[in-house]
Amino acid sequence: MRISPIIKTQQEIQFLKDAGIKVWRNWRKLRKEVIKKSKVCAVCGYAKKLEGHHILPRHIFPQYALIEQNIIVLCNDCHFHIGHWNDWKDYNPSIRRLAAEAILLKKVHEEELK
Ligand SMILES: [Zn+2]
Ligand SMILES: [Zn+2]
Repeated sequence: MRISPIIKTQQEIQFLKDAGIKVWRNWRKLRKEVIKKSKVCAVCGYAKKLEGHHILPRHIFPQYALIEQNIIVLCNDCHFHIGHWNDWKDYNPSIRRLAAEAILLKKVHEEELK
């Protein structure tokens, strides 16, 4: 890839800033809705300190940042330790599978306890 300096005008900079703020506001709104719907952490079932996590990370797939299907609800522990492998720059590509397995495991245990 060729790296060239891109000179932006004041208007262009303002436009990008406004677009960024808009995306951020929409993300906060969407995150709130998704958390309200799922109620618990998709991995551990905890119902507090819930956060929205992008399954396909925002920095690599910005086009999916505001798509509900790309968001999974995790508690803040699972978010950092499992969603991001203890590193906010990293991400867990198997988070959806892991959450599915966690739910099934919980179901199996509940059946056994009956
Ligand atoms: Zn959790
Ligand atoms: Zn995340």
